[in-house]
Amino acid sequence: MDSGSTPLSHLHFVFIPIMAPGHLIPMVDMAKLFARRKVNMTIVTTPLNSIQFQATIDREIKSGSPIQIQTVQFPFAEAGIPEGCESQDTLPSMSLLPNFFTALHKMQHPIQQLLENLRPTPSCIIYDKYFVCGAEICNKFNLPRIIFDGTSCFHLLCNHILQKEKVHEGVSHHEEKFVVPGMPHRIELTRSQLPGIFNLSTDPKWQRFREVAEESAAKANGIVVNSFEELEGEYVEEYKRVTGHKVWCVGPVSLFNNDELDKALRINRNSPDDVSKYVKWLDSWPPRSVIYVCLGSLNRAIPEQLIELALGLEATKRPFIWVLRGAYRKEEMEKWLLEDGFEERVKGRGLLIKGWAPQVLMLSHNAIGAFLTHCGWNSTLEGICAGVPLVTFPLYAEQFYNEKIVVQVVGNGVSVGAESVVRLGDEDKSRVQVKRETFKESIEKVMGEAEETQKIRERARKYRDMAWKAIEEGGSSYQNMSQLIEDILHVEG
Ligand code: UDP
Repeated sequence: MDSGSTPLSHLHFVFIPIMAPGHLIPMVDMAKLFARRKVNMTIVTTPLNSIQFQATIDREIKSGSPIQIQTVQFPFAEAGIPEGCESQDTLPSMSLLPNFFTALHKMQHPIQQLLENLRPTPSCIIYDKYFVCGAEICNKFNLPRIIFDGTSCFHLLCNHILQKEKVHEGVSHHEEKFVVPGMPHRIELTRSQLPGIFNLSTDPKWQRFREVAEESAAKANGIVVNSFEELEGEYVEEYKRVTGHKVWCVGPVSLFNNDELDKALRINRNSPDDVSKYVKWLDSWPPRSVIYVCLGSLNRAIPEQLIELALGLEATKRPFIWVLRGAYRKEEMEKWLLEDGFEERVKGRGLLIKGWAPQVLMLSHNAIGAFLTHCGWNSTLEGICAGVPLVTFPLYAEQFYNEKIVVQVVGNGVSVGAESVVRLGDEDKSRVQVKRETFKESIEKVMGEAEETQKIRERARKYRDMAWKAIEEGGSSYQNMSQLIEDILHVEG
């Protein structure tokens, strides 16, 4: 079955991402691909987010794709958020997260008004799991409820099992290991490593919001996942079996950015001058010699922990790029950098990017030898697509699960041994978990010449090749996308 031969000109998919880079970026990538397959696509977002994606969307339109961005205003005042902060990563404090989700809720009616006038009439809305009022919008327009979940099927299955079996509640303390029953591999976790939903938040309203999102997602008609079957097929199948949910794995979506310009413009946060400066710097290093370090779009590690990371990187004596964006208690980190002389000592071999990096572009450069990541799901997949070993340093949300995928399921990386999640909004309660020596040792395990290192590299290359195959015409993700299009055509009758 291939929807390639079916006329799709009346099909119109509306994507409603939440405004956080880790959610918006993959949904825009995915929207571009649907449009390349001639499904009419509309992405709904706010003005400041739209600006960052307009360049990449314009390129798609130029090459004949039926895709557009439509905007609705972000309700700053009503939600108590400072003007100009339209994305999670631009909030001045993570304590504003509940306000941010209130703002999303208040966008329901403006979005409904917008959809009333869209032509062709929407055939389907794919909304982010945390855009909870997406369910009501689908009901209003009598459309199937399809969720985008920005994580893995491993995560979906693990959460489902823990919610049902509650084994984590039987442990005597938060650091005690328990085995998650019913997972395809023997997965051991501690309660300290679990996502927020399993540990009562300090804010009960926030906790309730997460529960509502999970409950609502469970009632959806299906879930679109940025993953591929060759990566976690057992988890996909088991999740479908135990929940009865429809799942379409259509990733890794970052691979839909074909050329260097696509990668640079994926989200337009860097000037062309900066991009060429970074690429030139990478060009000056031999293949597989540079460690790329980035802890995601939010970067919630405390300065004391980041200092250990800095000194660990210095101790490797290897070239590195460190994307030190955002950061909790940013000013303290900046002060340390200034006073300690770190930047001066690593000058020449250490490139610090104190803002945004064009991550996918940089990871695809052949000078990159390893990726030290916080294990956000997008970063994990992007590392897999780059075919380089990963050094895993999970911080928050489901990132400890993603570490398990890397270290245990795929075997393309090593862990630095972090022990507990940093709770967003509660960063001050976290402590230094990984010392400089451990960072250095872990990096050596993937950059050195040991026999095990060669095996890790081989597995990294093998999974990169499988990822590319999955998205090619006829590959598993290509077929999943065809199936989703076909399913929507079927609903339309
Ligand atoms: N990203 C980027 N440059 C940066 C920081 C992040 O391009 O400087 C991108 C990264 O490539 C990924 C997304 O932002 O696509 C972050 O998503 P992820 O799930 O890895 O982590 P999160 O930021 O949601 O914790």
